[in-house]
Amino acid sequence: MIDHYDVIVVGAGVTGSVAALMFANRELQTAILDINLPVEPSTEHSIRVASINPASESILKKLDIWPTIEKYRVSPFNRIDVWEDNANQKLSFLAESIGATRLGHIVENDILSFAAWSKFESSPNATTLQPDMISSIAACAQGKQITMKSGKAYSCRLLVGADGQNSTIRELSNINVERFDYRQMAIVSRVRTDKLPGTIARQKFLPEGPLAFLPLGNNQSSIVWSVGLDKCETVLAMTDSEFCRYLADSFDHQLGDVLECGKRVCFPLVRRHANRYIGDSSALIGDACHTVHPLAGLGANQGIGDARALIAKTFPTNENIFRPTYRNLRKYERERRALNQKTLSTMDLFYFGFGSSNQILKSLRTSSLAIVNRSNFLKSFFIENATQLDASLEHD
Ligand SMILES: Cc1cc2nc3c(=O)[nH]c(=O)nc-3n(C[C@H](O)[C@H](O)[C@H](O)COP(=O)(O)OP(=O)(O)OC[C@H]3O[C@@H](n4cnc5c(N)ncnc54)[C@H](O)[C@@H]3O)c2cc1C
Repeated sequence: MIDHYDVIVVGAGVTGSVAALMFANRELQTAILDINLPVEPSTEHSIRVASINPASESILKKLDIWPTIEKYRVSPFNRIDVWEDNANQKLSFLAESIGATRLGHIVENDILSFAAWSKFESSPNATTLQPDMISSIAACAQGKQITMKSGKAYSCRLLVGADGQNSTIRELSNINVERFDYRQMAIVSRVRTDKLPGTIARQKFLPEGPLAFLPLGNNQSSIVWSVGLDKCETVLAMTDSEFCRYLADSFDHQLGDVLECGKRVCFPLVRRHANRYIGDSSALIGDACHTVHPLAGLGANQGIGDARALIAKTFPTNENIFRPTYRNLRKYERERRALNQKTLSTMDLFYFGFGSSNQILKSLRTSSLAIVNRSNFLKSFFIENATQLDASLEHD
């Protein structure tokens, strides 16, 4: 016997959990499937964090999961400082300059996905499927059928692939991906510093890649450091005290000494963009269809935006009926592909504009005209990122 649902979401990361909750809230019978379901966050900070912009915060508030997220841990920031060689020539972006009280919050990924998934679980329209691997996808009268390695099969009107960068749904749907390897790794860790980071997110653009200190409250920060492959090996081989010293030096001691660091974890940095986001009765969202350089902290925000757009196009509030037709899925694809492409291209501008140690490029970069252009570019980028609110909510 094949169990049937309106929607099956594969992947219970940030994107999938948020999407599943949105569909269940519209009284659609929704199932979620993950090989590693979210677990209750511990009292210890977990290593992966995302900076959640006001647009995403507003979506999470509408879903009524922001209070749960806050109950665990969030750290607001209302200023972003960026600089290159000289910390005295910082550019600062202040929330108040755009009439806002904050520019975003640093939140652990585990908290985001657990808050969304546990709210989803409590819905009468929700089913969490037994963890299992998908072996095939096929068209069926109702839409799509997925068959698991165990032999169990499920059908649905809409299959949503939110299964991350190595998406099985994408692969089994024969969707190709445009891929650019930045030949960088992001080193991520949690550190304790001499000085309090306050509510400021700081990023230094080093020649080999940006180094960000994201405030986690008290004197703790989450660092995301993009480095070349060789340097990554060297940095990982350091003892904790060598690493703390090296990190503080590289960051111009902006937060004084680095007193302590947690586990160091590396993520390869690859830009990916799926050629198609949709098929008949199926759609990709989040990292399953795009991955972006983390320097502006946008990946999770993009995934939440995808989820929001997918439901808006397939279940328009003015019609109050679920229509996952190819035409509506195309509307989703057109809207999100254009926006996501813009984000991916902007990240490349950052990467190529700031990230070269080549002397000629460096002297061009440090000319006064280049500095003025760059600071205008940065300003408009951060302001646009913080004020995407209206665009993301236009379908409500
Ligand atoms: C170093 C670093 C720093 C970052 N910083 C930020 C930031 O500051 N702000 C921001 O917005 N973004 C940031 N990002 C990006 C962000 O983390 C990702 O874009 C986001 O987590 C993607 O969420 P997702 O749910 O789409 O995918 P994932 O988090 O990868 O979740 C996919 C889920 O699918 C499940 N899954 C996989 N395969 C299968 C399968 N075959 N069957 C069933 N389930 C499956 C997995 O178990 C997982 O739970 C950062 C990324 C990196 C690498």
